[in-house]
Amino acid sequence: MDNINKEDFIFKNTVDCPVCGSKVDVLLVKTSSLRIKGKDSDFYVEYEPVNPYFYDVWLCNICGYASMKSDFKEVKSYQIEKIKNEISTKWHFKTYGNAYSADEAIIRLKLALLNYDVAGAKESKKAMACLKIAWLYRSIQDEENETLYIKKALETFKEAYSVEDFPICGMDKFTTMYLIGELHRRAGNFDEALKQFSYVMTAQEAKKKLKEMAYDQKELIREMKIENEPKKEDDLQNDISEGTNKKQGLFSKLFK
Ligand SMILES: [Zn+2]
Repeated sequence: MDNINKEDFIFKNTVDCPVCGSKVDVLLVKTSSLRIKGKDSDFYVEYEPVNPYFYDVWLCNICGYASMKSDFKEVKSYQIEKIKNEISTKWHFKTYGNAYSADEAIIRLKLALLNYDVAGAKESKKAMACLKIAWLYRSIQDEENETLYIKKALETFKEAYSVEDFPICGMDKFTTMYLIGELHRRAGNFDEALKQFSYVMTAQEAKKKLKEMAYDQKELIREMKIENEPKKEDDLQNDISEGTNKKQGLFSKLFK
């Protein structure tokens, strides 16, 4: 897939910047050209021939305002003032080509995150930006930064879960609960992850598919624990029957 010309799957459009009023050139992906290559347990969908997440952020190169394209126009007047004062005054024009690299896409997502911070946007917006940054680091096999942003996404989704109304980023309560569990698992917090998965598995209102996903991830933790800790057969049997509490110390170390 390296030989394809990415620009064939992308087209240009122009929108108005809600902060400074300039015309903003944006790149859009021809969604009809996308095929799903794989799905990850934290809802990352891998597409080919181009990664549409690279094009999720719209950025005004004149004033530095950046946001997910879905909420680019949803900026309130008090937020505009904050962005003008804290971002536009420090902004330097950046040149981007006709197709973004993963590194450029990550920078753009971080700019959106900075704008959300400055504007005091909802926690869920920040959480989704962090999760997408983690996904893009995964796409370039940068595990250290992926984990860093998984942890940031986890903290912000937890905050969003406790203060915002559902749906959060299009997810109902149990889907959000599952995602928090899965982010805990990826961050190495196995006991917290198991707690979240148990809630989902036992919640009457949770969808069957989601309960199955929670069950699969719970099993995965059990397998990870066994794989990471070679030991005598008797101990192994004990662990399987006793569950998760026993060797947490060792696993926390392994995942630091
Ligand atoms: Zn602007």
